[in-house]
Amino acid sequence: MTYDEENIFAKILRSEIPCDKIFENDLVLSFRDINPKAKLHILIIPKKPYIDIADFLENADINFQTSFWSSVNKIISLLDLKSKGFKIITHKGKDGGQEVFHFHLHLLSDS
Ligand code: AMP
Repeated sequence: MTYDEENIFAKILRSEIPCDKIFENDLVLSFRDINPKAKLHILIIPKKPYIDIADFLENADINFQTSFWSSVNKIISLLDLKSKGFKIITHKGKDGGQEVFHFHLHLLSDS
């Protein structure tokens, strides 16, 4: 499978379609899920074209991976979720429930 530049998150990254932005830096973009499954449901995506977590873990260089997780930690802090609680989900592949083939984390909390 090759990365599809026309996937919806790629279009969001190119500002071709809008999103309800929560956080952005040079490496990641985070925005509200359009179909929330919890009181807080946001998506965190790297600004590089990885298809899914397996692609990310295999092919992203270690500095980028470290910075990505550091950005995730920053978002968790910004939203004050460390004390309140949260869960992180990622889907890989059709049998894993993935619909958008740009690697993303779901960050959910009922707080
Ligand atoms: P996944 O099944 O992990 O690929 O999840 C894709 C997620 O993207 C779903 O939870 C959708 O509700 C969400 N989604 C799809 N299109 C948009 C959009 N334009 N803005 C925000 N979230 C979206």
